[in-house]
Amino acid sequence: MSFDLKNIIRRNILDLKPYSSARNEFSGDNAVLLDANENPYNTPYNRYPDPNQSDLKDKVSSIFNIRMENIFLGNGSDEAIDLIFRAFCEPGVDRVISIEPSYGMYKVCADIQDVAVDGALLNEDFSLNTENILCQIKQETKIIFLCSPNNPSGNLLEEEKIIDLLSRFEGLIVVDEAYIDFADGDGVLKYLNEYKNLIVLRTFSKAWGLAGIRLGMAFASTEIVEVLNKIKYPYNLNILTQEFALEALQEFKKRKAWLSDIINERERMEKQLTTFSFVEKIHHSDANFLLVKTKNPASIYNYLVKEGIIVRDRSRVPLCEGCLRVTIGSKKENDLLLGKLKTFSL
Ligand code: PMP
Repeated sequence: MSFDLKNIIRRNILDLKPYSSARNEFSGDNAVLLDANENPYNTPYNRYPDPNQSDLKDKVSSIFNIRMENIFLGNGSDEAIDLIFRAFCEPGVDRVISIEPSYGMYKVCADIQDVAVDGALLNEDFSLNTENILCQIKQETKIIFLCSPNNPSGNLLEEEKIIDLLSRFEGLIVVDEAYIDFADGDGVLKYLNEYKNLIVLRTFSKAWGLAGIRLGMAFASTEIVEVLNKIKYPYNLNILTQEFALEALQEFKKRKAWLSDIINERERMEKQLTTFSFVEKIHHSDANFLLVKTKNPASIYNYLVKEGIIVRDRSRVPLCEGCLRVTIGSKKENDLLLGKLKTFSL
């Protein structure tokens, strides 16, 4: 397999001269800043944030043990997904493959960019069906989207199969690992140097409990990260997010305790939910949610909404017939759900 980013990137993006901020030309603390038409009052929020996010990137680099030039930071990993489409897919021409079922934003970002998505159905047990993916590859296929652990099924995809695809496909492979911290495996970040066509997405929205500050990452080759940085909004991460994240990322201890609580609760909920007569199956989960197959998803869903509990109805999604997706909450929240389900009758 020979991967060359020049065969993948859109011509106009390759030629693009990005917006440049005069602030990039100076580093230090004592400059008189009259370059960006800011207001001199109301410090520090009168100033635009650091477009290179250097302090935060340095911190992320040490946490994940990945060099700064291999890290893109975005307004959630959703921003990275959107930029990947805009950088590499020619509207109305190029195509991508996404495993099916999977996270809905791949298709939304594809539709916005007018890019066709070829769905590659997973096996019945939600394991990766490599043949289904390979037979969808066309001349115009630029990217394959994988999600591990997958949303909404919750399972880790098999690492050997991901590696096999990375070595066989001449385009990009995005592996979305938003939920990897809840799984036993450590994911595919360790293959970043080996496969130049790999992009790994991670987020601070799940295990780190920071969905509200909007901070996600794409890890990839220096070349790919340069492209994403070139097309992002110059100030895509605001000052509040950058400052707050720097502080919050010191809290490794809290994160570990949260993770073990959530994983314990996942096991407890799995056992408890199987006791209900209307529950047919609970799919194995490596994430912070359970995909629960029920006899009557719509009436359970509507009943729970009336009781003030919101779960996700995935029953019309391929391979998820009858299924509700339930996030693992706190013990108190989970007990409330179990209590309401006890009084539910079909
Ligand atoms: N990837 C997957 C698989 C997700 O389920 C989600 C959010 N539910 C995201 C990415 C988006 O994460 P972020 O909050 O970082 O945009």
